[in-house]
Amino acid sequence: IMSPRKFFVGGNWKMNGDKQSLGELINTLNSAKLHAETEVVCGAPAIYLDFARSKLDPKIGVAAQNCYKVAKGAFTGEISPAMIKDCGVHWVILGHSERRHVFGESDELIGQKVAHALENGLGVIACIGEKLDEREAGITEKVVFAQTKVIADNVKDWSKVVLAYEPVWAIGTGKTASPQQAQEVHDKLRQWMKANVSEAVANSVRIIYGGSVTGATSKELGSQKDVDGFLVGGASLKPEFVDIINAHA
Ligand code: PGA
Repeated sequence: IMSPRKFFVGGNWKMNGDKQSLGELINTLNSAKLHAETEVVCGAPAIYLDFARSKLDPKIGVAAQNCYKVAKGAFTGEISPAMIKDCGVHWVILGHSERRHVFGESDELIGQKVAHALENGLGVIACIGEKLDEREAGITEKVVFAQTKVIADNVKDWSKVVLAYEPVWAIGTGKTASPQQAQEVHDKLRQWMKANVSEAVANSVRIIYGGSVTGATSKELGSQKDVDGFLVGGASLKPEFVDIINAHA
């Protein structure tokens, strides 16, 4: 049986690049032959959302890397889903481990952001993942289930959500989770969704893997039954991103 889940590859540029280098990357993506059955979204820095949207081929989506939990007001430095949409951008990454662990965002705040972004019509790439000490303590499932519950409590329409499992120990470290490690957690997450949301949502929600994905590791990771794509940091800034997009041909 064919998976009903469209493969999804997100690039997370983080706080990297400038108009020159991102413009070159965009030219590479625009002229590459990308697998038509794969959904591609590039996460640009807030100040370059407009630039990225205007330069990227319309078949490639754009995502903000964060947003705030209300529509407007006295929140210096923040951006709202309404502003993101005003730039023609339809996705936002929320709950990324750097937001959680560098900027101290709580589960509660991330849940509020997820609710507000969805209410305002954005698609959400919602990130979860355990830290190394949590994996070593054997509490990976407990941690990712708790993070997923806070997200789930704030979702009405799951068709607009992609769940990104990103073990913190694998992000930016060159230490990719093995295909077996990724599949194991993705399978557990799908079981959790079945028990706590619904069987239909468990079967249809895309669960993507992030953490040091490269052109070389993407094929085997992407062939795991419950791995429906990737969220890619470092390698999304290189021409290699094309190989990752096309890993699931
Ligand atoms: P990485 O980042 O691919 O550089 O490990 C992934 C992410 O943080 O989304």
